[in-house]
Amino acid sequence: MNSIFDTLESSVRSYCRSWPVVFTHANAATQITEDGTEYLDFFSGAGALNYGHNNPALSAPLLEYLASGAVVHSLDMMTPAKREFLETFQDLILKPRHLDYKVMFPGPTGTNTVEAALKLARKVTGRQHILSFTNAFHGMTLGSLSVTGNSLKRRGAGIPLTNSSKIPYDDYFDGSVADFMWLERVLEDSGSGVDKPAAVIVETVQGEGGLRAARTEWLRGLAALLKRHDILLIVDDVQAGCGRTGTFFSFEDAGIEPDIVCVSKSISGYGLPMALTLFRPDLDVWEPGEHNGTFRGNNPAFVTATAALRTYWADGEFQRQLGGKIDTLHRGLEQIAGTVPGAGVRGRGLLAGIVFPDLESASAVAAEAFANGLLVETSGPEDEVIKIMPPLTVTDEELTRGLDILAAAVRSAVGSPELASA
Ligand code: PMP
Repeated sequence: MNSIFDTLESSVRSYCRSWPVVFTHANAATQITEDGTEYLDFFSGAGALNYGHNNPALSAPLLEYLASGAVVHSLDMMTPAKREFLETFQDLILKPRHLDYKVMFPGPTGTNTVEAALKLARKVTGRQHILSFTNAFHGMTLGSLSVTGNSLKRRGAGIPLTNSSKIPYDDYFDGSVADFMWLERVLEDSGSGVDKPAAVIVETVQGEGGLRAARTEWLRGLAALLKRHDILLIVDDVQAGCGRTGTFFSFEDAGIEPDIVCVSKSISGYGLPMALTLFRPDLDVWEPGEHNGTFRGNNPAFVTATAALRTYWADGEFQRQLGGKIDTLHRGLEQIAGTVPGAGVRGRGLLAGIVFPDLESASAVAAEAFANGLLVETSGPEDEVIKIMPPLTVTDEELTRGLDILAAAVRSAVGSPELASA
């Protein structure tokens, strides 16, 4: 192709290399290209489209808001749209979960909320060091990169990424080393030479790093250990949050209460940029304006965020239906993985996938799925996992159709003998 995308746009672009088509329209779990080809979208804007594309429950209030002449850009000034969002978030999300958090609006992206969380943890504790986990992904700016695992991404920083160390995520040693043994020992040993960290940042499911999901007991153990040592727990719920794992926050099943929570991607519900940093009220030590940013007041995003919470989280019905879809997805993935020796299912909720025993299969399956009308990406340091992330609003028919395309792609790309006769 010799289009303006190739001639003018930087070589840094990536998704469009896997999907070399021009998307024009989108609706729910479907995207349509310029030549009218339809794709089932099980990528969901990398987790920013949990309620599907152009959801009418969100576009209607958005269009009305834009047509009304109401304020669009407001930095951190007060607007009715922000008031309604804060009230709705408090009433439908925080209060029912007995979570007492202050809400900070950092810049509008995932990495913005992570940077704010790291900065706040350092300011509150007066300590510099942050611990994060093997294969973690927290964003592309320097602070977030310093707590990210991926070596290609880290190299891109071009400077040493300091003041953070990696510790093993759940099951890193396949159960052969007791959880937290290293961390517990070095924290208790005054001769360990490991500086006491300000915080530990963790994803409950590693969305980019290979879809490993931490067990609830592991998360509880981590939270308890950090509490004993007066170290802050930051949960990065940028990708796993907003319902992705079956509950609004991904840590609800574990029954833990992080000190700081990072939220972005699907909080606006419509793919509009928005992020939140939530923290315990006693951690709110910011000076006014100490951390700011031009795009913290994206009012159209507040409008769609409020509509999404009211439409889907006002009662338990959406979450109940989500549970059924999660079961269907995991049953389907187990069945497909069972046909490939050495393959296995990873992940939690509608953030799941199949890890292959080699480094070529997942990319081959993604390419074959694309050829057959399904958008799925890969995950993991070597792209060894095929990642299935349908919108939470996916219909049963779409879910079954997507799984059928995936099974056929595995059959064709990996050539699993058990499926050949299916
Ligand atoms: N944290 C997590 C867990 C993520 O998955 C991502 C994005 N994939 C980020 C942070 C960074 O978000 P953004 O790309 O919006 O900066």
